[in-house]
This record gives sequence, C-alpha cells and structure tokens, in this order.
Amino acid sequence: MPARLIDGKAIAASIRERLAVDVATFRQATHRIPKLAAVLVGDDPASQVYVRNKEQACTKVGMASDVHRLPSTTTQTQLLELIARLNADSDVHGILVQLPLPKQIHETTVLDAVDPLKDVDCFHPENVGRMVQGRPRFLPCTPHGVQVLLRESGTTVDGAHVVVLGRSEIVGKPVGMMLVQKGETANATVTICHSRTKNLAEITRSADILIAAIGRPEFVTADLVRPGAVVIDVGINRLGDRLVGDVAFAAVSEVASAITPVPGGVGPMTIAMLLENTLTAAKLQSVAAQ
Ligand code: NDP
Repeated sequence: MPARLIDGKAIAASIRERLAVDVATFRQATHRIPKLAAVLVGDDPASQVYVRNKEQACTKVGMASDVHRLPSTTTQTQLLELIARLNADSDVHGILVQLPLPKQIHETTVLDAVDPLKDVDCFHPENVGRMVQGRPRFLPCTPHGVQVLLRESGTTVDGAHVVVLGRSEIVGKPVGMMLVQKGETANATVTICHSRTKNLAEITRSADILIAAIGRPEFVTADLVRPGAVVIDVGINRLGDRLVGDVAFAAVSEVASAITPVPGGVGPMTIAMLLENTLTAAKLQSVAAQ
C-alpha cells in the first residue's frame, strides 16, 4: 500500500495562521512589531530565493522584515560591523545570516557574533548548548520542523529507533539531539550516520523513522527502508529542472508507511519555525527591556 503523505505545506499553513493571531496579540499588547533582519551576502540564486520567501512569510503573519544585501566582496570586518549594528538595534528582534557565506568570511565567527537573544536560527553555541541540555531558548528551524511533522502526522517517536542520515550542524546533529531528549515527540533511540558510517543499509533498514539530510538526490532507495517506516526527507536538490529530495520518492512510497514530499514537506516547516522563533525573540526582548 502506498505511504500516507505527510503534508508539510498544509501543516505549515495552519502554524502560520496561528502565528498571525499571536503576532496581532503581541503587537496590541506591546505596540511593537516583531522584526526579522535577514543578511544576504553575494548573489547565490538559491539563497536569494530562500531570503525572499522568508521575507514574504514575515509580512504575511504581520511581522516586519529587512533584508540587508551585501556584495560578494564584503569583508568579514564589514559583515561583523553590520551584525553589531543589528544587535544594538532595539527594533530588530531576530537576525538571520543566510548561508553559505563567501570564502573570505569565516562562518562560525559571524554566527557567534549574533546576539544569542536574536539568534532565531539557533546557531549560537549558547543556544545550541541550551537545546542539547533540554532547556532551549530557541529550537533550530529545520529540526524543529521535522519534529512538528512527526507530531502532527501522529508518528510515535517515544521508544522508536530514529536513524538520521547526515551530521551537519544545521540539520543532522540537532535533529538527533532533539529527538533523543526527554519529552514529547522525543524519547527516541537515535543513530546518526554520515559518510564514514559502515553498513549504512543495515542501519537504515533498522529505522522506525528515517530522516534523510545528506544533500544527495534520491540517495535513499526502497531497499534502504524498512517496510512500514516513516520517512522524512530534508534534502533539497536540483536535478535538471526538477527539485528532488534525498529520497527516491516514488519507490520509497511503496515501502514506507508515511513520507514527506519534496517540495511541500520539510521546506515550508523550516520557514514556519523561523517565524515562530522571531516572535519568541520579540517576546524575550520585550521582557528583557522591562
Ligand atoms: P551538509 O552538506 O552540511 O551535510 C551533509 C551530511 O550528509 C554530512 O554529514 C555528510 O557526511 C553526510 N553524507 C553525505 N554523503 C553521504 C553518504 N553517501 N552516506 C552517508 N552520509 C552522507 O548538508 P545539510 O545538512 O546542510 O543539508 C542536507 C540537505 O538538506 C541538503 O539537500 C540541503 O539542501 C537540505 N536542507 C533543507 C532544508 C529545508 O528547509 N528543507 C534546510 C537545510 C538543508 P560527512 O559529515 O561525513 O561529510
């Protein structure tokens, strides 16, 4: 029987509806508008699309958004100066530095410079540390999106074996850390795999929930999936004029019990979680200012 589709687009839309109400309540109570400042360095076409989508999503839920576009020749010092200005600007609640950055800029140095209270991507070591300790200030957007998809699709995570393909700081590691926590839609037994993992197929076939985040088009074929597993595809890859995930969708759909599509799965959830973090940041800063 073909897998049930986990509709990230619809779930994200209902989150945005709820957020629009929460933003209106916040604006009425504080007379302040939650604002996201996005920083885009260079002219990477995919990054331009991502930033534009995030900007439009902010506006739709009643938040403000500024995009700071800098040339690809920007120096690290210039970028750090902009981050310092945004940190000091009390009208800006969330700061997002779109990755990747040009080669002359050290990514970690820049991400570490973002005020942890404005770190809506949850990349700052203070926020990552808090998340790992189970007392998060913000949750990282894509991993949080994955967790909400699992919850909303009624997937049992408690006690399940979750296999994560990929160990990046943005997706693989944090999603593993979140699902192993004590708590709701968590308590999983997590295995994180990467390019040096031995017997990969054996491990993936033991997964109740398989999360693919490796950036390899349609890498996960049906033989890597246990019949009845839930498959979450984080990958976004361009294959000719098509966008495909890290999972061979049609074939895996015949084996899995539930699966996310690409596009329309994790992608819209990432943006919804970013909006949620921006509202959280505005609330935290309005409390801090009192
Ligand atoms: P990275 O390139 O940073 O990390 C890829 C990870 O996959 C690495 O840990 C790498 O291992 C591992 N890997 C690569 N090849 C293999 C293999 N053959 N077998 C096992 N592991 C492998 O990618 P990201 O985490 O940033 O992104 C992953 C995908 O998710 C991309 O397609 C990206 O576009 C997408 N993405 C989607 C988002 C969304 O909102 N939907 C948000 C962020 C990313 P090693 O560490 O050993 O090199």
